[in-house]
Amino acid sequence: MRARKSERGGVVTPRVVQRRAWSVAACLWGMVVAGSLGGCSAANLETRWTQDRGGVLCDARQDRVSGVCGKLLRAWLDYELTIEVLDSNALDAHIWPKGSVYLTRGLIDNMDDEELAAAVAHEVGHLLNDQSGQALASLAGQTIVCNEESYADLLGCRLLERQGIDGRAMIRLLQKVERCEQLSASRRVQMAKRIDLLNEVYSYETQQDR
Ligand SMILES: [Zn+2]
Repeated sequence: MRARKSERGGVVTPRVVQRRAWSVAACLWGMVVAGSLGGCSAANLETRWTQDRGGVLCDARQDRVSGVCGKLLRAWLDYELTIEVLDSNALDAHIWPKGSVYLTRGLIDNMDDEELAAAVAHEVGHLLNDQSGQALASLAGQTIVCNEESYADLLGCRLLERQGIDGRAMIRLLQKVERCEQLSASRRVQMAKRIDLLNEVYSYETQQDR
């Protein structure tokens, strides 16, 4: 190919044409990526996440958890956090930062009111401990970092006590989750460690009070 003069007066060689073609392609690709990511907001991610876990259930369970935990959440946080019910058999709870707290149908059907409050307190414990404010957390443990779970347990116990609820509801909650057949072996081991730690803390505090 021969070099020719461009309309702007520059010399257009095959290499220049190739470079401009790549530039246009990169620009178009950028527009495509920006468009697809633009539609993938945090709210959309949360919606997709709930759909993958059975979706949100609206029945009497919703009224129960709102009644039991709504007031507690307002006492613990200086902003509104909604509670939703996931249509799932699992015994678990999750929290989306700047989103909602999710309790599973299985958890609600198997826990008393204090244990449900403990599940929400654990999630709020994660929220208060997460400096980035970005991490999705859960009751059964989102990661293998046991310390983070124990910290959320302990903080949750203190939050419960601040509202006049016995923090040992957290132990009862974890014991029921530990007995759940769906829990993986590694999570069960973690759960046992978390329960042991809470029992040690309460045993130590009881001795101190004597
Ligand atoms: Zn957790």
